[in-house]
Amino acid sequence: MGLGGLGVPALWALARAGARQLKLTIVDPDPVELSNLARQVIYRPADIGTPKVEAASRWLVERFPDVNVERHAIALDASNAACLVAAHDFVIDAIDSPAAKFLINDTCIAARTPFVYGGVVGMTGQAMTVLPGRTACIRCVFETPPDDNETRSCREAGIVGPVAGAIGEMQAAEAMRALRSQTPLLSGKILTYDASGPARVRIAAVSPRSGCGCGAWKPDESR
Ligand SMILES: [Zn+2]
Repeated sequence: MGLGGLGVPALWALARAGARQLKLTIVDPDPVELSNLARQVIYRPADIGTPKVEAASRWLVERFPDVNVERHAIALDASNAACLVAAHDFVIDAIDSPAAKFLINDTCIAARTPFVYGGVVGMTGQAMTVLPGRTACIRCVFETPPDDNETRSCREAGIVGPVAGAIGEMQAAEAMRALRSQTPLLSGKILTYDASGPARVRIAAVSPRSGCGCGAWKPDESR
């Protein structure tokens, strides 16, 4: 979900990691813009104005002719999220809108579909994998989406290419582990990559929250 600063490195990493055996679905409503070209390296100047899903699938098929890719040039919303999620074994949240991130969370929890959250603002990136009903979800950590005026979106704050690249690649690695029936490394853990000074990477365990409705909190285990 999302073919920007996180989704492009994630897609590239999935392709390299053997996604030819997988069915990939890419979702993004936006066209390629000039400002995307420097960081989102799969897009070419000739792609400007083309839907990102079209440009990305063309890039994929040129390099991996047998890749099975389905594309949707649509914005994720409450009317389409359940259908999109239901058809898949794993979801990569590479969207920059907080409201859409909570929609992915709630939809994946309802469908019991594992997913990896990713976010980058400024020089800091985060990633966390959610196994519905088993590990903490996004609402366990953040409770509610931030107000619009509190949110510094990627567009306003800018995002740093290497940070987004690292988080996107990490999201792809989490997806590949889940699809190979290995436990994703960031299940119930949040990784923070802060490149604002000397680069710091921190991984912290996240406990399910008792008031969250996602079902991961178990009274017995909390004692
Ligand atoms: Zn929760």
